[in-house]
Amino acid sequence: MEKENYLYLMCNPDKWFGEKHLDNYKTNDILYNLSSHAWSVSHLKNIHIGMLGILKVSRDDRAIDLLKKHNVAKLESGIYATFEVIDFIPDRIDGKVTIKIVDNFFHQNRILNKEKTKEILGDKYNAQSQGYIHKSIYDLVYENVQAITYIDLPKLRKNLIVQEAVEVYPRDEEEKREALILAKYKCELEENHMTFTSNATSENYVEGHHLIPISQYVHFDNDVDVRANIVSLCPTCHRMLHYGEKEEVHNALSALYSKRINRLKKVNLDISLEKLHTYYKSNEVCKN
Ligand SMILES: [Zn+2]
Ligand SMILES: [Zn+2]
Repeated sequence: MEKENYLYLMCNPDKWFGEKHLDNYKTNDILYNLSSHAWSVSHLKNIHIGMLGILKVSRDDRAIDLLKKHNVAKLESGIYATFEVIDFIPDRIDGKVTIKIVDNFFHQNRILNKEKTKEILGDKYNAQSQGYIHKSIYDLVYENVQAITYIDLPKLRKNLIVQEAVEVYPRDEEEKREALILAKYKCELEENHMTFTSNATSENYVEGHHLIPISQYVHFDNDVDVRANIVSLCPTCHRMLHYGEKEEVHNALSALYSKRINRLKKVNLDISLEKLHTYYKSNEVCKN
């Protein structure tokens, strides 16, 4: 018999996204903030530290008022993340397992929905709240998540944070990282612009640039630090946008604008090309 050495856990949003976390998250980063959590497991004997698994949400029973108050959405049923076991305290009939999120599908807007989850897990596992699964099921989850196209969703504008006594608009490195992955590490102005292999990604080196500059955040109710607004550029094209001569910048912006405007609209960052141009007049758009 094939070894079932991956773990499968169900999470209850009532407990998991409990009061003490509620003030700290927005719709898009619920799981992101939650690095570890302890589960009660029963009748599971072969859990070990380092073991991997998948996390499923079955039903979100949180009251509408509570969701509204904290500006979060009701969670659909589906597979939300993969995890690694970082601690396990066994008991005779029960035990406590502590996990750390490895891949947060929710944060990437790529969760496996109810139907797909049922299809992959089959009726047997789908009905259980915990248990072991085959490696083949674990791999299938990944395969299917990769096949889901990233969905652009609006995010509310962030609050300023204080850095060295100065208020700055916070940047989410994850948004940039994912934007470069989505662009397949190519320069979005000219995909033949190859540079060198990045030490960090082992891919063609590119830089993320906010099409609507972060410095203009105040003009938008929604977050401009989202991947729909981050383009991947080779270092030369990137510098050109910041320091180039007017006409060249104008042409490059128009090209990027027509590629991105539909995605920008999806995240409530509707802007005209003319308006975008005005943000670039002073050649001091952003610092990265
Ligand atoms: Zn830039
Ligand atoms: Zn380029």
